[in-house]
Amino acid sequence: MHRPSHLRRAQTEHFDVCIIGGGATGAGCALDAALRGLKVCLIEREDFAAQTSSKSTKLIHGGVRYLEQAFKRLDWEQFQLVRKGLWERKYLLQNAPHLTRPMALLTPCHSRFERLYFGVGLKLYDLLAGRHNLTPSRQLSTEEALRAIPTLKKESLRGAVQYYDGQLDDARFALALVRTAAQHGAVVLNHAEVQAFEASADGKLQTLIVRDLLDGQQATIRATVFVNATGPFADGIRQMANPAVPSRMRVSKGVHVILPKTVLNSETALLVPQTDDGRVMFVIPWKNHVLVGTTDTEADLGDDPALEQTEVDYLLGYVRRYLNSDVSAADVQSGFAGLRPLLQADPSTDTKTLVRDHEVEIDARSGLVSIMGGKWTTYRLMARDTIDACLRRMNAPPRPCTTETQLLVGAEGYTSEGWQELITRYGLPKDVAVHLWHRYGIEAEQVAALTKQQPAWANPLVENYPFLVAEVVFAVRHEMACTVSDVLSRRLGLEDLDWQATEAALPAAINLMAEQLDWSESQAHQAESDYRQRLFGIQERALFKQKSTA
Ligand SMILES: Cc1cc2nc3c(=O)[nH]c(=O)nc-3n(C[C@H](O)[C@H](O)[C@H](O)COP(=O)(O)OP(=O)(O)OC[C@H]3O[C@@H](n4cnc5c(N)ncnc54)[C@H](O)[C@@H]3O)c2cc1C
Repeated sequence: MHRPSHLRRAQTEHFDVCIIGGGATGAGCALDAALRGLKVCLIEREDFAAQTSSKSTKLIHGGVRYLEQAFKRLDWEQFQLVRKGLWERKYLLQNAPHLTRPMALLTPCHSRFERLYFGVGLKLYDLLAGRHNLTPSRQLSTEEALRAIPTLKKESLRGAVQYYDGQLDDARFALALVRTAAQHGAVVLNHAEVQAFEASADGKLQTLIVRDLLDGQQATIRATVFVNATGPFADGIRQMANPAVPSRMRVSKGVHVILPKTVLNSETALLVPQTDDGRVMFVIPWKNHVLVGTTDTEADLGDDPALEQTEVDYLLGYVRRYLNSDVSAADVQSGFAGLRPLLQADPSTDTKTLVRDHEVEIDARSGLVSIMGGKWTTYRLMARDTIDACLRRMNAPPRPCTTETQLLVGAEGYTSEGWQELITRYGLPKDVAVHLWHRYGIEAEQVAALTKQQPAWANPLVENYPFLVAEVVFAVRHEMACTVSDVLSRRLGLEDLDWQATEAALPAAINLMAEQLDWSESQAHQAESDYRQRLFGIQERALFKQKSTA
């Protein structure tokens, strides 16, 4: 994806659909629309998936908690939501097998009643998934539970129930959606902020005024239909199109911390069935580390969502309660925070109720199509419903949605053992070959080929991690990475794994980006100091880190 050509096309072509927001929802809409033969433009203010879509718990799930609520309230609609999520789970796993995997989760039980309760509940979860089920759930004895998660606390343990859900690399999955859309003709642009609409005399939206945040230039984009897929920021765009519409979004903040692998020592995740404030929490194996989350606190859109010390303490408290581990803040390797886009019912009906599903809203005056609510797992259904609505607005005949079976970039011809070829053909160490294979799918071959172009690109980017210098080059050349954060946070995912390693990788990453993007010495220097300052700010809020005097 060559950004300058996408920018040129964005300014000169007339689009059927222009989508605002490059998270899971907007990226899913762009792919769906492009596959239906529409001319599409996708505009993202920061980077693809820079907001909520790279800050999730990374579960592809129907939601066991939602199932419990459905059961307790005998709520048919809620059962349907769980079922939809479980069916979608299968499509996500099939369409991007390199970025997803089925994952075992274990719910510890402390009485016979609990084991029966969770056992029956999770059988119902299997049943709702029907033919889309993964491995069936089953009850484990205490010994089996301890074999599955060796660090689990043994005291008062009365067995466990194990079930399966999916796990996804959320940032790279969103990027794969964007790139697949681009392969099917979509114009896509990151670092471009929507600032205003221009409308006809009767109020119908006609053009979008966008500011390119990389060079400060303004651009105008023309389209027949505009889609607002800005997640937590949806009200801002709705009211930009029509100031008279009431707010619908409520945001809540959720945080995660990253701990060393030894905390769990397993590829099976732990589900903490009930926190003191009545939620579920997860301790999940994630890229050779452990991901712990999440919280749920009221937030304000103006806040810069960040992991705070109190939240670190809260999450570590549960890890110590359930696992034989004396983790402290000193063990926290990284962490991140995101804002949930929670949708309130239409105020003309019931103001405070949260809508559990997604909703496509069409503003009668401006014609803006807003897609709101939902979750990562259901992005495809959200996109389908949105593009159906766009076709209706365009008075176009219906065109079938084909995303159910659309493989994403890297998935065509993917086999789980394909990494072995990378060892044979490029002489890569096993951990590097596996790492590349699960990150790029069949495109790992292209990354590996770079190591033959320049011997220095075969070097590790940072000690103790399988990242190669070549990945920075690939990110800039093929994945529209424009800033240091695009590379280290979303393309490589290193920032969300290990802050110290990220700092160590920074000089090499800057040098390569400067070389690839033709940065001057002062631009490179500025980029490095801005990024360092940002990274320090994140660590200071989470860990009370003192600035090094060295
Ligand atoms: C802590 C947490 C854990 C979660 N865990 C899970 C999970 O395990 N499984 C699951 O299924 N779901 C999960 N979710 C929900 C899921 O992550 C979200 O529903 C989903 O990512 C929302 O995607 P989105 O595209 O709607 O929003 P976003 O990802 O926020 O994307 C909106 C985009 O719009 C852009 N934008 C805003 N304003 C403008 C503008 N003016 N111009 C251009 N662009 C603009 C933003 O920069 C942003 O990138 C979780 C959410 C949170 C917060």
